[in-house]
Amino acid sequence: MKNLIDKLYQEQTLEKDEFIYLLEHFDKETSEYLFSLARSLSGKYFGNEVYTRGLIEFTNYCKNDCYYCGIRKSNRNVDRYRLTKEEILSCCETGHELGFRTFVLQGGEDGAFTDEVVVDIVKSIREGYPDCAITLSFGEKTYDQYLKYYEAGANRYLLRHETADDAHYRALHPDSLSLENRKECLRNLKKIGYQVGTGFMVGSPYQTTECLAEDLLFIKELSPQMVGIGPFIPHKDTPFGNFPAGSMDLTLFLIGILRLMIPNGLLPSTTALGTIDPKGREAGILAGANVLMPNLSPIGVRKKYELYDNKICTGEEAAECNVCLRNRVASVGYEIVEKRGDFIGFEE
Ligand code: SAM
Repeated sequence: MKNLIDKLYQEQTLEKDEFIYLLEHFDKETSEYLFSLARSLSGKYFGNEVYTRGLIEFTNYCKNDCYYCGIRKSNRNVDRYRLTKEEILSCCETGHELGFRTFVLQGGEDGAFTDEVVVDIVKSIREGYPDCAITLSFGEKTYDQYLKYYEAGANRYLLRHETADDAHYRALHPDSLSLENRKECLRNLKKIGYQVGTGFMVGSPYQTTECLAEDLLFIKELSPQMVGIGPFIPHKDTPFGNFPAGSMDLTLFLIGILRLMIPNGLLPSTTALGTIDPKGREAGILAGANVLMPNLSPIGVRKKYELYDNKICTGEEAAECNVCLRNRVASVGYEIVEKRGDFIGFEE
């Protein structure tokens, strides 16, 4: 086991069967060994600094019907909302005062946000907050659409590939969505010049260890700047409502692996991780993560952006969340910093 982890540390990748072996045989001791190497690498590139991204969940309308997602089109129990441009800018204002230097606009695939509307919002944030990075995350668009947003001032795009195994992709999504298109979107985003984030859920229904090994190899090939992973958590009003949640230990182990694969990468310790375990986000940092994405959405809409059951941080004001997170990060020896936190060496 340790020899495979050493090989990963040296070569930043493994063969598929080696990843499978690691994922099927890891235990507490190997995890601790992996995490100590992961921390030495995050320490080398980032010291004890943790970056934050202010998450603005600007719409929960979605034209897609992903079987795992709480805001899927067919969920009639969702109270749908859209933020106005003014509301989004007000979130940025609050966030900037609190020290955020990256804003993430995340939402469902909502036709009401035409390219014209998106470009106008991005330009306004760019003008109002020239010292901040703008990250977008609202699904699959064409090359030309991504280009328009980039030219308006967006810097980064988050689009999890969800699973790199074709049959698994089809088990998680309706026929209207395809892994090929998802991958094409990611390649287009890279070509345009975005800092790109991809990722997957850990423990999603029908996922096998082989699927996870394929995820890791796909990530190696894509070479993204950011990778977001978190446990799958069931949502009661979806077809996957009765499936079990993903494992915390496996999610942490995969964060450690990703740190060894992309030593200078931006790896969030996700809200989903904090939802399955009260100390999940702290554990994620100790496994090699270096980014947190607190919620900046207006308090009145937070519960409506429920991707999975019991999502945390839906009841507190942004300022309260900020203090809580700073303390949590400090409790494990790290520090939240007021920086954009770009990928090291990334030229725009
Ligand atoms: N619509 C955009 C997209 O498809 O990329 C962004 C929003 S989408 C809701 C953000 C992410 O939430 C997805 O990439 C997915 O991995 C995650 N997610 C959705 N449902 C989830 C669940 N039940 N458990 C954990 N994560 C979930």
